[in-house]
Amino acid sequence: MSGERTDVFVIGGGPAGLALAIAARQRGLRVIVADRCAPGTDKACGEGLLPETLGALSRLGVQIPAALGEPIRGIRFVNGEQTVESGFPLGCGLGVPRTALHAILAERASGCGAELLWKTSVRGLEREGVALATKTVRARWVVAADGGNSAVRHWAGLGAESRPRRRFGFRRHYRVRPWTDRVEVYWGDDCQFYVSPVGPEMMCLALLSRSPELRIAEALPRIPALAARLGSATPLGKERGAMCATARLPHVFREHVALVGDASGGVDAITGQGLFLAFSQALALAKAFEAGDLARYEAAHRRLAQRPAVMARLLLALDGRPRLRRRVMQVFGDEPRLFARLLAAHVGVASPADCAVDSLRFGWRLATV
Ligand SMILES: Cc1cc2nc3c(=O)[nH]c(=O)nc-3n(C[C@H](O)[C@H](O)[C@H](O)COP(=O)(O)OP(=O)(O)OC[C@H]3O[C@@H](n4cnc5c(N)ncnc54)[C@H](O)[C@@H]3O)c2cc1C
Repeated sequence: MSGERTDVFVIGGGPAGLALAIAARQRGLRVIVADRCAPGTDKACGEGLLPETLGALSRLGVQIPAALGEPIRGIRFVNGEQTVESGFPLGCGLGVPRTALHAILAERASGCGAELLWKTSVRGLEREGVALATKTVRARWVVAADGGNSAVRHWAGLGAESRPRRRFGFRRHYRVRPWTDRVEVYWGDDCQFYVSPVGPEMMCLALLSRSPELRIAEALPRIPALAARLGSATPLGKERGAMCATARLPHVFREHVALVGDASGGVDAITGQGLFLAFSQALALAKAFEAGDLARYEAAHRRLAQRPAVMARLLLALDGRPRLRRRVMQVFGDEPRLFARLLAAHVGVASPADCAVDSLRFGWRLATV
């Protein structure tokens, strides 16, 4: 370790922690990141990067080589026989395996001069820094980027405002040539599959449900269209699971400790916006460090969370409500322009004001279909 003192100590070297390390180094701050795992960590994730997520990455100076992923040009919803889809109004997304994304972020963070301590657990917070197994490191700011189950959040006294809404995600890769350049969301009665192309011969399936027991092999037959698409494709690697909690925290900083990424309150994985939020929050937090004013970060964090939170509420309203889902899909099928508008709002290209007339039309159609 280069010293016992730093400007920023980041606890957790997942996407949020590494992004924060890069953003803080871009502003000339000294950064140490500690993660209890080894680099290249895998985690259950749908692995779809939306166009705006790539935009946030590019502000961090991170370009993902095209060869490491597969282009994603839009979103398709499939509900039994019903299908609606639209291309992204601007730009293209990318499906990238989580380990490849992690390796690129780690390389960039280390290349910008952040000190990365792998296999290093943080044991607790000290008055002026953090406690590692063998020593204390003093830091002007401490950042909790230790994920949805953040212990640091609790150590800092930054608990949840309300009981988080919890769902469970499982991810598995399949060896199969991608049949689509869209993220496909397959709706079942008690689960969804979020499917992204992530390689020339690889698709990523993420299962989302309220049950911690439901696994991909058990859920697949409930979605015959997806099971047929996969055919006899070989599953690759292990099935990985993670909890995804939708939580809003009253505060995302206290004194010299700030929260970023899933530790700062997550959004349901069905939105595909977790990584966008993590990267955008990291950029905003580094800016606040430079200004010496973490209240600015809290305000930016709140603004960033609004759109994904609305989208999560809308999408989760369809979970477990087959009749409503059929009607919504019928309206979108009859008027694909409305689905295109929803997607434009989802990826931040249309504002709520732009969508006002379409929302009224959607509401009217839904009531009369
Ligand atoms: C099933 C599923 C599908 C998803 N699909 C998508 C998608 O398609 N697109 C998208 O944008 N988002 C998606 N997300 C969300 C996205 O994966 C998360 O938002 C993202 O992983 C958050 O990153 P993070 O760095 O905040 O947390 P994490 O990735 O959880 O990283 C936290 C890190 O902290 C470390 N750590 C924890 N405690 C300590 C400690 N005490 N000391 C040191 N290190 C510690 C851990 O080892 C870990 O590396 C999905 C989520 C799930 C569950």
